[in-house]
Amino acid sequence: MSNRVRERNVTAARWSANGGALGVSDLTAPGEEVFGSRVFSPVVLKQRLPKTVHRQLMRTLEKGEALDPSLADAVASAMRDWAMELGCTHYTHWFQPLTGSTAEKHDSFYGPVGDGTAIAEFSGKELIQGEPDASSFPTGGIRATFEARGYTAWDPTSPAFVLDNPNGALLCIPTAFASWTGEALDTKIPLLRSMDALSRSAVAALKLLGDEETNRVFTTVGPEQEYFLIDEQYYFERPDLVNTGRTLFGAKPPKGHELDDHYFGSIPERVLACMMETELELAKLGVPIKTRHNEVAPAQYEVAPIFENSNVGADHQQLTMQVLQNVARRYGLVCLIHEKPFAGVNGSGKHNNWSMGTDGGENLLEPGATPQDNLQFLFFCSAVIQAVDKHQGLLRATVASVGQDHRLGANEAPPAIISIFLGGELERVFTAIEQGKTSRSKAGSFLGLGSAVLPPIPLDSGDRNRTSPFAFTGNKFEFRAPGSSQSISFVNTVLNTVVAEAIDDLAAKLKKAQKSKRSLEAALTPVLKAAWKEHKRVVFGGDGYSEAWHKEAEGRGLKNLRTTPDALPEIIAPATIKVFNKYKVLSKRELESRFEVAAEQYVTNLNIEGETAASIARTMLLPASTRHLAELRSAEVPALIGETSELVDEFVKAILALEKANEGHPARAGVLNHAKYMRDKVIPAMDDAREVADRLEGIVADDLWPLPKYQEILFIK
Ligand code: ADP
Ligand code: MG
Repeated sequence: MSNRVRERNVTAARWSANGGALGVSDLTAPGEEVFGSRVFSPVVLKQRLPKTVHRQLMRTLEKGEALDPSLADAVASAMRDWAMELGCTHYTHWFQPLTGSTAEKHDSFYGPVGDGTAIAEFSGKELIQGEPDASSFPTGGIRATFEARGYTAWDPTSPAFVLDNPNGALLCIPTAFASWTGEALDTKIPLLRSMDALSRSAVAALKLLGDEETNRVFTTVGPEQEYFLIDEQYYFERPDLVNTGRTLFGAKPPKGHELDDHYFGSIPERVLACMMETELELAKLGVPIKTRHNEVAPAQYEVAPIFENSNVGADHQQLTMQVLQNVARRYGLVCLIHEKPFAGVNGSGKHNNWSMGTDGGENLLEPGATPQDNLQFLFFCSAVIQAVDKHQGLLRATVASVGQDHRLGANEAPPAIISIFLGGELERVFTAIEQGKTSRSKAGSFLGLGSAVLPPIPLDSGDRNRTSPFAFTGNKFEFRAPGSSQSISFVNTVLNTVVAEAIDDLAAKLKKAQKSKRSLEAALTPVLKAAWKEHKRVVFGGDGYSEAWHKEAEGRGLKNLRTTPDALPEIIAPATIKVFNKYKVLSKRELESRFEVAAEQYVTNLNIEGETAASIARTMLLPASTRHLAELRSAEVPALIGETSELVDEFVKAILALEKANEGHPARAGVLNHAKYMRDKVIPAMDDAREVADRLEGIVADDLWPLPKYQEILFIK
């Protein structure tokens, strides 16, 4: 019997709208507004708490003090009533362990009362603190020496929400996850600490710049998410996709994205229906999705929200990945968020748009209309340049993972070299400052009082450089290197912390200069000038993909950390430990634990890939190839027998070599050396086997080849 029937592909292309999904909600009808309907927002909280209790709560939260038990009970009971009205039977402390995904353990609201019935209970204590038996999460050694369990603690700054399920609903309470010794075991705690650090530094700097009003500065994030949608039938026919999230075999299809007919093209109906339902679900959860479009590769798409503060934005980013994957299944689709699901086809990233905003609503990276505004802008912009230059290796490390090694440095994604694109006009402004041209305070100069200031903004919006890993885009920086499947928490934690350090450094210099200079402009200009001179090497406006840039970057002394094992040690480099310690964002031990976990994940994921590849090759592809060879022999086609038989021999050799690499892991070599073994031995062995397999795919009878091909997976919609 043949292995594959073409009919399956026809089935895959068939779909019908799933009843309730389409045409139901008229968002313009009163009462049908779904946005935030599943969120225990500040407004709901205010409505449901007695006035005095609410006021007390707000005061406590503002001061960042611990809630007293009666206050916590009041909030818990309001939250429970609200959640149960929405059909919740259970609640969970929703947290983000170092795996990079989210974790939940469900507890029922109901407790037996002894007479055979049960009543709903949910106390302040249960709201504030939980103790999941979460001893299996990776901790990079933090807990092993002390306490086996960790605890979760309510994060009142990210609202609770309800996840619907056909059979009920679940109240999710965003929480932090820590060890009993107070060390962060998650990605939320350091993010919150880094936001506080940056706020303190930025508020102090704003005072020097003449802003007495601002009490708090928030970092903001708007992450653009790229992903693939493919028919679930193909997904389940491919053990590599199921086990590793990417195809370990597969020849390049005759039609690629050369035609660019997909990018921003019209969206296939099934896909659009799926996107719309995804966005509806996300809207209910208060995630402000704004844009959607096709991406460069066939079957690749993108979704982006309106930016929010980093903490809420990071939580919402996790929800976005989760909802994308859940809803896709309702349409017979699978959402792939892996960085490189298909070799030879564009991979997926996650653009991390980042800025700083005041509690008064001002964006600190927005060049303004007045010289005063522009001085402020140039100050904060300089701080970012300095921070990115100084900690370029660390920033590279925040985006390092197995999946990312296929992407960064390849000819489609930002290079592994971190550099900043400022745009021609902004670069000219800094160059003018460097050359002292701004002191002539005449009309038309950049900083001259009462004169035209910066050229019209947005700067260079026309020639947006897509090859830069870190680009200024008019009023924010866009860090384009993060991978599509990764949590954005650590990326933003690092950005916030290193920028806080640079702000403090520039502020200290400004303060000193202000003692002798009359005007702010006179005091600030030399500070900006010195910073630019020292850090302009990281600014690059050309083609980041080009060979020439790699050479030039080397000459400029920029780091080029090509692979994950090259990059990860930056997490525990002395400069990293120093800045994270200074701002109390992560201790040395907490950094070491993150390094360990990231390196372990690299090893584990590659081991899964290596073993999956070997098993597919030996048990699926090799048998198909030998059957094909036997058929050629029995049909007596000598012209093809020789070629096929040679390839089969080559394949057998490659499989045996891969199996040997899979078995030869170094014992007790330390996690970094283990990671290097995976990179230097297992990956090349996988690549070799794949190379032969992909050639076999081109000659073995189609009905014998057991894996769906790229031309089907990517083009049948
Ligand atoms: P593009 O594809 O041109 O980069 P998008 O509209 O897809 O633009 O994405 C821009 C992203 O930047 C959006 O998520 C948007 O909310 C976000 N963004 C805009 N302003 C800020 C800001 N001040 N801070 C953080 N993110 C921002
Ligand atoms: Mg973008």
